Amino acid sequence: MWDECNSVCSSRNGLEGTTEGNGRRRLGIMGGTFDPVHIGHLVCAEEARWQFGLDEVVFVPAGQPWQKRQVTPAEDRYLLTVLATASNPHFSVSRLEIDRGGPTYTAETLRALREFHSAADLFFITGADAVLEILTWKDPDAVLQTARFIAATRPEFDLGKLDLGRFGDRVSVIQIPALAISSTDIRRRVREGRPIHYLVPPEVASYIEERHLYEHPGD
Ligand code: NAP
Repeated sequence: MWDECNSVCSSRNGLEGTTEGNGRRRLGIMGGTFDPVHIGHLVCAEEARWQFGLDEVVFVPAGQPWQKRQVTPAEDRYLLTVLATASNPHFSVSRLEIDRGGPTYTAETLRALREFHSAADLFFITGADAVLEILTWKDPDAVLQTARFIAATRPEFDLGKLDLGRFGDRVSVIQIPALAISSTDIRRRVREGRPIHYLVPPEVASYIEERHLYEHPGD
């Protein structure tokens, strides 16, 4: 069943070995910079939860994404993520990467989560573009061994780019039309004074406005 997901999952696949099957908990880990979190991320987490029979999805805002430009302070991105996920009882937010300090390495995050949730199967959910880069991350073998990966993308994404054969059965793809919304576009919209309502939850829009986030070039 899992192999079928190596192309694109669009139905309730990958359920072999769910809590219904072997009693193991299935934990989704939603990794991202979330600068800011938006509706596309929320739809993606909920769809992955359903398709893969996950018991819970923990959002893990990256503390210091070391391969990236300047990002908004971690505490703002953390609070935005808490506000966005509060109404879903299956979602939670972890401070793991924020409190650890130093450059954010997924290998360390997965090691910590593996220790804490020793009886769970781990599923790391993130953007397909990020998954493409796994081999450049720290300890890629350990990363791919510790968790299965769910690569989220928009329907028009060139799946040929993913070359999934490299990853064996460790990576599956899900298409999420709502990911046409992007954090980059939201930051640009705020800078240009354009509306972001309905692209982010109302609480997130209010927080961005109150804290004057993303108003200046480079924010
Ligand atoms: P990114 O380059 O900002 O994101 C790549 C693409 O994926 C963007 O289109 C982004 O859309 C989308 N995306 C990001 N997170 C997503 C999610 N959870 N669900 C659906 N789409 C998502 O990648 P990033 O946010 O910096 O990194 C993603 C994850 O990979 C993080 O957990 C990060 O720590 C990890 N990572 C680890 C290493 C390492 O260990 N060495 C290196 C790089 C990244 P938006 O811009 O709209 O979010």
